[in-house]
Amino acid sequence: MKTIGLIGGMSWESSAHYYREINEGVKKALGGLHSAQIAMVSLNFDPIERLQHQGEWAKLESIMTQAAQSVEAAGANFFLICTNTMHKLADKAQEAVKIPLLHIADATAQVLVKDQIKKIGLLGTAFTMEQGFYKDRLTDKYGLDVVVPGDDDRQIVHDIIYRELCLGQIRDSSKKKYLNIVERLAEQGAQGIILGCTEIGMLIKTGDTDIPIYDTTQIHAAKAVENALIQKQ
Ligand code: GLU
Repeated sequence: MKTIGLIGGMSWESSAHYYREINEGVKKALGGLHSAQIAMVSLNFDPIERLQHQGEWAKLESIMTQAAQSVEAAGANFFLICTNTMHKLADKAQEAVKIPLLHIADATAQVLVKDQIKKIGLLGTAFTMEQGFYKDRLTDKYGLDVVVPGDDDRQIVHDIIYRELCLGQIRDSSKKKYLNIVERLAEQGAQGIILGCTEIGMLIKTGDTDIPIYDTTQIHAAKAVENALIQKQ
């Protein structure tokens, strides 16, 4: 089994789900007392969130490259960044190490392509919904047509992530707001919704709405298990 590198803590609420999903996946595959081999760096999210909102991406770059080097030094054979937003620095993190990054948008897009989804709604932080680093990868590499909520709805989605979900607060009123936004994306022709922030799965789940939900935390964790268990030929 390969050792999975995890760069987490952004927020720890979602990293806890990664840890559980990956260990449960290995246990399901191998049985008994088997568990995942993980090398994890868990960062303090408070300064990171501030630097994101101040646009200090050069400072964040050095945090991410150091974290990637730490999981590599700890023996990881490949690594994950346990947040969609910080994939803005995915290329920089990858350049800093020899082990491969398992990109969250690739893992997700591969499932969408398999499900023959062409037009997909995207929920995430404003960084993820508005900037090119995530949407363009889905479109350019996988031919997906990505729709995001309108201005006011994007603000609602973003604020609930940072003010509630990253603090572990799950509110019915916020769930209703998210489900209304999902409905509006479906009206625009979205055939499914990417939960493109690793905390959103704490708020809405498959079954809460008729439209298929693609939870990036679950998809990314499952892909990590698959990768870790692939035997080299
Ligand atoms: N975990 C979130 C994501 O997947 C947001 C927190 C962050 O800004 O990294 O984008």
